[in-house]
Amino acid sequence: MTTTTDFIRTKIAEDLSSGKNDGRVVTRFPPEPNGYLHIGHAKSICLNFGVARENAGGVCHMRFDDTNPAKEEVEYAESIMRDVRWLGFDWGDKLFYASDYFEQFYQSAVQLIKMGKAYVCSLPAEEIRAYRGTLTEPGKDSPYRNRSIEENLDLFERMRAGEFEDGTHILRAKIDMASPNLNMRDPAIYRIRKTSHHRTGDRWCIYPMYDFAHCLSDAIERITHSLCTLEFEDHRPLYDWFLDTLGTEYHPQQIEFARLNLTFTVMSKRKLLQLVNEGLVNGWDDPRMLTISGIRRRGYTPASIRNFCELIGISKKDSRIEMGVLENCVREDLNENAPRAMAVLKPLKVIIDNYPADQVEEMVADNHPKRPEMGTRKVPFCKEIYIEQDDFMESPAPKFFRLAPGREVRLRSAYLITCQTVEKDAATGEIVALHCTYDPASRGGSAPDGRKVKGTLHWVSARHGVKAEVRLYDRLFFTEDPEADKAVDFKANLNPGSLTILDHCVLEPSLTLEAAGRHYQFERQGYFYADPVVSGGEKLVFNRTVGLRDTWAKVQGE
Ligand code: ATP
Ligand code: MG
Repeated sequence: MTTTTDFIRTKIAEDLSSGKNDGRVVTRFPPEPNGYLHIGHAKSICLNFGVARENAGGVCHMRFDDTNPAKEEVEYAESIMRDVRWLGFDWGDKLFYASDYFEQFYQSAVQLIKMGKAYVCSLPAEEIRAYRGTLTEPGKDSPYRNRSIEENLDLFERMRAGEFEDGTHILRAKIDMASPNLNMRDPAIYRIRKTSHHRTGDRWCIYPMYDFAHCLSDAIERITHSLCTLEFEDHRPLYDWFLDTLGTEYHPQQIEFARLNLTFTVMSKRKLLQLVNEGLVNGWDDPRMLTISGIRRRGYTPASIRNFCELIGISKKDSRIEMGVLENCVREDLNENAPRAMAVLKPLKVIIDNYPADQVEEMVADNHPKRPEMGTRKVPFCKEIYIEQDDFMESPAPKFFRLAPGREVRLRSAYLITCQTVEKDAATGEIVALHCTYDPASRGGSAPDGRKVKGTLHWVSARHGVKAEVRLYDRLFFTEDPEADKAVDFKANLNPGSLTILDHCVLEPSLTLEAAGRHYQFERQGYFYADPVVSGGEKLVFNRTVGLRDTWAKVQGE
């Protein structure tokens, strides 16, 4: 249940109290099945399904706006349903397809023709454009505007029968070629497209335009509030014109809200499709993509996305939300709920010289520092362990409190160790191992004499650790608005360093293949998700969902 309100929810509450729509609240989410859903769609999903859920008896329809046969595929429709369900919403038996209304749309078009409100125009496309005028100049009437009703009915029927080729005729509404609103200058209603449709096959060769199909679908389904993004504001007069002229029994109210834009990404299915088709990402569910399926694989949770949508709210003004806001939402959720584990991403071997060679101890570690109910786990400790390469400096910089020659640090949930010597490759000079000693009296991580150590490191037993691949992600684009400069292709702003693969990582042995599909905080590293798509066989692959802190903001602020 949301705690915030907005102008749409206020309007719906007013309509309910005034008795409009007989107390019904019916919304719809109407994607075109021509791509995968992205985080922008999540905003619309949370709004439409959210409003329905918040009002007793409220319903949200899942409707595929499948009126354009050329670009639509079953794969997309299936992914859309999967994504909406994953976000935590359900349409019950209210699943609809605009293509199921094709006959009704056709009959409505015939009705408009009979009313003298629609005509078949036979101008070629470029002429139609030229006749349309501009924002400052009125349009010109088509020479076909005054065809008789009989001729229009005959031509339209023959368009349906497949007698004409694509582009030879269109059906247009007869409104006003001088209207200041270009959408009202005799807009197209039907066009010829001799293309098979993924649901209606070859039954139709004329297809309705969005503006015509959308309002009628809403009216047929008795939608009460048709919520859409601001770019449709100028289309609302046409929405209303169609329904008023046809005198439909139900006339839903279209209300517009600002679409979601996020920094460092693009939010258009067409552009996301380009990235997929040109192999610039690894598919629609690439964890760098801001598609629902991408961020799911990245390790975002449905709750974090719903929280994000609630946090940003609904307004009438376009804006661009900081990516950091989204990242914070998942960080907060995972901080609360993800069990902790230790993983060494860039291993450096540590040999504890005074530890018995064949001894193994089971150290007990908390699964969550603040939630004892999440329990503890055993982590094996032995003579050889791995620590992070970055946790050692041979000549430590000021403020570097981790391991260095002669220095003592704490191994999380284990012992205090002191670095004695550094073992190097004779040929390359590269550090291959550290020799340390441990204080047997410091089991659990504190010394009986109370001496303090500044650094605490995570570690994994070299003998017991499991190998894994870890994928680190950075922003897919390196500019805040990759579309800002119209003179350059948005793809020129792709961040070449958006993916780093680390394939010699070592994880504590509690992370078996059963981890696939689970979220963890790797201590001191961030939040990671065992990628269920690529993990399998012997191999575990983790995606970094997000770091522990907003390091990006820090870098930028410097
Ligand atoms: P895109 O521009 O990415 O191709 P679209 O608007 O063509 O998206 P549709 O399938 O028509 O995609 O969208 C379904 C619903 O989701 C529409 O009601 C649309 O207004 C809404 N929607 C799409 N993008 C956003 C966004 N960025 N923010 C909020 N709502 C959005
Ligand atoms: Mg659209």
